[in-house]
Amino acid sequence: MMKKPCSLAVLQIIPKHHHLLPVGLVKALAILDEGGHPYGFYDIERSPEPDFRSALLQLLSSIKEETVLVSMACHNNYPKIESLIFLYLYLPLLKDKKVIICSAYFSLYETSLIQRKNVVFSPLDIDEYVAKHMGAPHLTEEVFGQRLEEALTRYGYQNYRFWGYLTFGCYAKCSFCYNRLPFEGAPTITQRPPDAVLQWMLRAKRFGKTYFEFCEPNFISDRPLVEAFLKRLKQENPGVTWRCKTRLDDMDPDIYSLMTAAGCRTIFLGVEHVDLALLRRIRKGENSAEKLAEFLKYRRKETDIHLSFMMGIRGETPSALRRNLEMVLKIGAVEGMEPNIGWQISFNRRNRAPAVPNYIIPFMFIMNFLPSHMEISPALMRDILVMCRQEPFFDFWCMTESQESLSLMQHLAAFLKSRPQQKVIRDYDRLLSYEGGELTKLVLKSQTLEDLNRSVLSMAGVR
Ligand code: SF4
Repeated sequence: MMKKPCSLAVLQIIPKHHHLLPVGLVKALAILDEGGHPYGFYDIERSPEPDFRSALLQLLSSIKEETVLVSMACHNNYPKIESLIFLYLYLPLLKDKKVIICSAYFSLYETSLIQRKNVVFSPLDIDEYVAKHMGAPHLTEEVFGQRLEEALTRYGYQNYRFWGYLTFGCYAKCSFCYNRLPFEGAPTITQRPPDAVLQWMLRAKRFGKTYFEFCEPNFISDRPLVEAFLKRLKQENPGVTWRCKTRLDDMDPDIYSLMTAAGCRTIFLGVEHVDLALLRRIRKGENSAEKLAEFLKYRRKETDIHLSFMMGIRGETPSALRRNLEMVLKIGAVEGMEPNIGWQISFNRRNRAPAVPNYIIPFMFIMNFLPSHMEISPALMRDILVMCRQEPFFDFWCMTESQESLSLMQHLAAFLKSRPQQKVIRDYDRLLSYEGGELTKLVLKSQTLEDLNRSVLSMAGVR
């Protein structure tokens, strides 16, 4: 029998983030193979090219098939920065192909900007799309589950971490948040059936994966659901350990006990700032430093704590930044505590106060969000800066509400330089040493924000 010609390419553009299993992609590949549908697989993770931009461009130019099925955000379903870069910068390179982009999270993108005749946006994740259009009828969820181990080995994902959601969304309204869905609407929380989550965790354990990751933005967003789930988890899956993220004001000794009894060993909490007035400004809705102090009184050593802090909030002064940095250093000196500090991003343009550009911010953003094993070339930064300046949707990458963004950056650079031995704040190492420290020099020597912006654009070759 003649082999069917291969006309489908599966394109995977998200490099691994923390080794989280891209289960939707694995399932899509398994469905295609089970159904005897030939396809070419183009995976950025398998590229020998270390630079992200070159790897992506080489991948796109090597596609021979006529139809390209793009797997987006498949590592934990959050839209990743790579998907923004691909969609808005490099998708036009596939103009001669039919491109089907699969994501259940398009509400986070501005798809009207990238509508093209050759592009179809599917609101289904890639496995659901493939099942619907090319499905192998015998590859049910149950059969896939039974064959999962073999599939993970076949596609090279046996060392990845299992993860899942019990809920998605958040009831809070922090102004900087990009987790809420839909992006511009009222906060909503969707629930997944606890049975399905428990089954998935048990399946992971059968492969020897006893460490699980809950990826929802706020694990305790629906307390009754979570309490019932934790009681079942403790009973039905003893020995499993896991990580989650949650809001500090949802924590108390009772829920903490339930969580630890059910295997929670790492909690990610957002503190953001020690200054209460600044927290109010970002609608954080809790005195998180105070809440953290309360939590630390009953936290036990078995729980590792990851904490996020933020700079660049409107009204933040260098002295407020210093207090926050001192707090980060103090907390980071405690065993089992791991803080990080990011720059506030003004995603939600409806609610943001007057903003001004600072072209160092896209560098901060890219260097903190692209996985550290991928290199970031000046060519990628040039493309991104050009896009930030041309396309209003993208101005969240460079605009800041902070009136003192230059002095905050100068203060940060000086603070870190004066503490070369500290090992707690590592978030800006990549930025400060980029191109032999060129960006740091520009930050430190600029007299005004306009000076800084001019110099950054000129260094990047943007006119
Ligand atoms: S608590 Fe976290 S998930 Fe909820 S809105 Fe704030 S930042 Fe987003």
